[in-house]
Amino acid sequence: MYRTVGPPAESMLSVRFFPFREQTPIVIRQITSRQKFTIMDSMVTQLPLFEEFAEPVIPATLGLVQVGIRERASVLNRAGGDYLGCDYTLNPYVGCGFGCSYCYAAFYVPDLEKRAAWGTWVDLKVDAERQIAQADLKGKKIFMSSATDPYQPIEAKVCLTRRLVELMSDPSRQPILRVQTRSPIAARDIDLFRRFEDIRVNMSITTDCDEIRKRFEPGCASIERRIEAIAAIADAGIPVGLSISPMLPMRDPEAFGKRLAGLGAKVSFTAMFHQAKQDFQANTRPLALELAAEYGWDERRYRLAAIALKRHLPHLHIGDR
Ligand code: SF4
Repeated sequence: MYRTVGPPAESMLSVRFFPFREQTPIVIRQITSRQKFTIMDSMVTQLPLFEEFAEPVIPATLGLVQVGIRERASVLNRAGGDYLGCDYTLNPYVGCGFGCSYCYAAFYVPDLEKRAAWGTWVDLKVDAERQIAQADLKGKKIFMSSATDPYQPIEAKVCLTRRLVELMSDPSRQPILRVQTRSPIAARDIDLFRRFEDIRVNMSITTDCDEIRKRFEPGCASIERRIEAIAAIADAGIPVGLSISPMLPMRDPEAFGKRLAGLGAKVSFTAMFHQAKQDFQANTRPLALELAAEYGWDERRYRLAAIALKRHLPHLHIGDR
């Protein structure tokens, strides 16, 4: 699946990551030609483009998000804590281009500068495909993803998550897959999701008001696009879930509950902003708490909204923080 390629001569090379279905290469970093690097088989046909040496370093960006690579980062990790009873978490990316104001995944980034810049960078785990191809996942329960969104904006170009899902969809090695996303790009992979015997795609939709959504999640797709995407996935016969977590200020939870009920989700969950129980633990970022205070959004209003939602989503699990 992977091939190690040694460049032909000593020089500085611009390493390009070739999106699987697009012609435009993304220059991701510069290396010396003595370094070896792995490329995916699907990129091998594009090799002539590696002949363009001595280009300046061009950091790949998508919008305001800087795109980098991690060559050896682990894509699967034993699931600790509360990931729906899963055996492993699967994170194809490090960082996240969505940059939600409340995200506490940033806390897990050891580099303080990168932590502070959360939402402006995303790194591709370019060894992910090899790792998944070699892993024994048959019957294991996988949560994708816990510390990023597997359907990043860059995913539309590079199809990294798609390749992993495709590998896992092989009936002889299929895991039980739980997809967690807030990205309409997930609907692109309906053809692959259909191959799984046990799968659920959970969509995060955190408020009923796009104005509010824009303030808390300016880098994310609109509520409408997320609803359309999860409706398309459900219409394809794929089990879906809804995550209204963290619940952001709501305008009309009663009407929103009615609308969501039409999506046919069998599982749904809501919670207030995560609050760490101790110092130095992952916590909701202060910006989100300030915004919530601006809207007068507190525990009482969250509870009332959750009860209104539950009238239409009887299976809704109402969590705390
Ligand atoms: S999409 Fe998920 S991982 Fe990305 S910033 Fe938002 S909450 Fe964090």
